[in-house]
Formats: sequence, C-alpha cells, structure tokens
Amino acid sequence: MNQDLSDPSEIIPPCQEECVIELTDPGLRLLIHGGAWDITPSLHQAHALGVKAAFNEAVSCFRSGGSGMDVVLEALRVLEEDPTFDAGRGSFLNEHGDVELDAGIMEGASLRAGAVGGLRNFLHPSRIAREVMEKTNHAFLVGEGAEEFAKKCGYLPLLPEQLVDPREREVFARWVAAGKPDAKRFFSSSAANSVRSGAHPDKRGTVGVVAAVRDHNSRAGWTLFAGTSTGGTPGKMKGRVGDVPVIGAGVYADDEGAAVSCTGWGEGLLRISAGQRISAAVRAGVPIQKAVEETLSDLYRRLDGHAGIIAIDAFGNLAASYSTPFMAFAGPRGVLSHLRLPDGCATVRGQDL
Ligand code: ASP
Repeated sequence: MNQDLSDPSEIIPPCQEECVIELTDPGLRLLIHGGAWDITPSLHQAHALGVKAAFNEAVSCFRSGGSGMDVVLEALRVLEEDPTFDAGRGSFLNEHGDVELDAGIMEGASLRAGAVGGLRNFLHPSRIAREVMEKTNHAFLVGEGAEEFAKKCGYLPLLPEQLVDPREREVFARWVAAGKPDAKRFFSSSAANSVRSGAHPDKRGTVGVVAAVRDHNSRAGWTLFAGTSTGGTPGKMKGRVGDVPVIGAGVYADDEGAAVSCTGWGEGLLRISAGQRISAAVRAGVPIQKAVEETLSDLYRRLDGHAGIIAIDAFGNLAASYSTPFMAFAGPRGVLSHLRLPDGCATVRGQDL
C-alpha cells in the first residue's frame, strides 16, 4: 500500500533553524542523504547538521570550479569524516569487531564507474573508488586487492583505532549481548523498539549523493553523477558486501535514465537492482518520483524490506522517497526532512525538494 503523508501534523521538522542551506548554484542540482532508518530524536540534529555541511561544501566545491564528480566526492568526504554517519569514521563493526567499508561512484555521460568493497583502514573509500574508475581498467576492487591498490595510489592506511569510534565498541558489545539481531529489521518501524530495548542503541546511516550539472551538449541539458558510501550493517559477516558499491544496486548514474543513491536494507536493494531499476524506468518514460516510489513499494511488497532513495534525472528533476520511518536528506531548498511515518506505511515522498 502506498501512502502519502497529507497531514502536516505528521511532519516533524527538527532543528529547522540549523538546516537552512545556502542557495545552490543555477548550474548544479544536488541531493544528499545521510541514511534512512528510525532515526531517534536525540540524533536528529547531528544528522541535520551533517547533511547540511556536506551540501554546503559540495556547492562551494562547484562554485570553485569543481566537476560534478568533484562535487560528489566532496560531499562524501565530509560525511565520511563525520562520525554521525555509518561511513568512513563512525562505521559499524562487523562480526569480528572490524570496520569494512564499501563505496561506489558513477558518471552518467560515460557510464564510467568505480567501486570498492570490504576495504579496511582507509577513511575515504569513495576516493579510492574514484581511483579505481580513473586509474584501472576495472570497475570494482574488493578486500586486500583494493587495499593494496589504495596504498599504491598514495593513501596512507589508518590504524584500526583511528577509524573505529570508541562508541562503536560499546555498540558492538550491546549488539552481541542482544543476541546479534539481524540488520533487516533495523530499517523498519520496529527499529525504535530495538533501540529502546538496547538491542541496537546507536544506529546511523549510510551516506549518498546525486548531482546533475548543466551541460548544454547533453541531450536533456544536465549530466548526472552519483556516489554512495557505507560501513554496511552492524555485525555483518566478514566479507559481506551490501548494495552500496554494486553498480546498479545502491549506486547508479546514466544520462539516459537517472542518477540514484540508496540506503536501507542492502540485501533487498541488491536483490531488486534498485538503482538500475529506477534508471531503466525513467528511460522508459516513468516520472522519476514515481520510479523511486514504485521501487520502494516493490522492495516492501516482494521482500518486506525498507529503504530510502534519492535520485535525479537528466532534466534536473529531483526525487526522494523512503519507506523507513525517517530519512535525513538535504536538497536545494534547504529542506531537511524527517517525516514520521505511521506504522506499516509503504513509502512516502520527500517534501519540497
Ligand atoms: N545499505 C547499507 C548496506 O546494506 C546500509 C544502510 O544503508 O544503512 O550496507
């Protein structure tokens, strides 16, 4: 069942003052997310400020002459350095108490893409994904191979304690004590209960960016870029890779379709090829907001899964929707949205993109 929120009393506008975002540039369209889940009120402000900072840095990068990919990487850098989010510093730990990072980026004009999976000890996996795209003939490197490649590119590995937020050790211990609950339900409306019960006390979000840059040579006037970065899900198996770095699942960009970044239950987003599904629908003429909502509905209907998605098409149309209780995101009108969903709601669209 799709359900729109028409009752404004359902909209919880946290820390609106802090969320005023600088006006964007007429040559740039940008959406940034900081994860979709049942964000607890105590974490609203940190999420709001984090996506706002990333948005403003990305716009400044563009104004100083940065390319669309520079803009995406700049936003991801800010979010990967902010321990509020499950990306770079602040990432969840896997079943052995280690950080394993995933990131993917893509350019819609050339369909060039780069991704890394299961990367340990580097703060900015998105930058290494860019190196994969620009310096290799490959699109996706994982594990030790990705780490060796990162070192060859001049990135200094960090000691685990430099990447692991001390808070994560406690989160990990509580997750073990709670019987190692599966991550799938953290994205549904039962997450608040698990937070309250201590089973999952400190959930945070994957981060992602979609951007369109004015390009008068392109068919529709804009050229597209996307990037997503994550520490994955808490207590994941060693070697587990979710949707985020998989081109066509958690990240995708095609100037003939759409740029997409996903957050939420990664196994489900992988199994429905979320990014490619949305882009293909847009290419076939489906309006982008509808394509996003239908994909979330399919995820719920077919797999009982919850997620959040941001997207943009090559006409510069923005879309955002989520089936989790909340999603943190920033858009050009300075809106940071945390919409409270009634239990059992399938999807809701972002307001005032
Ligand atoms: N989609 C991510 C993953 O499954 C998690 C998230 O978005 O929070 O790795």
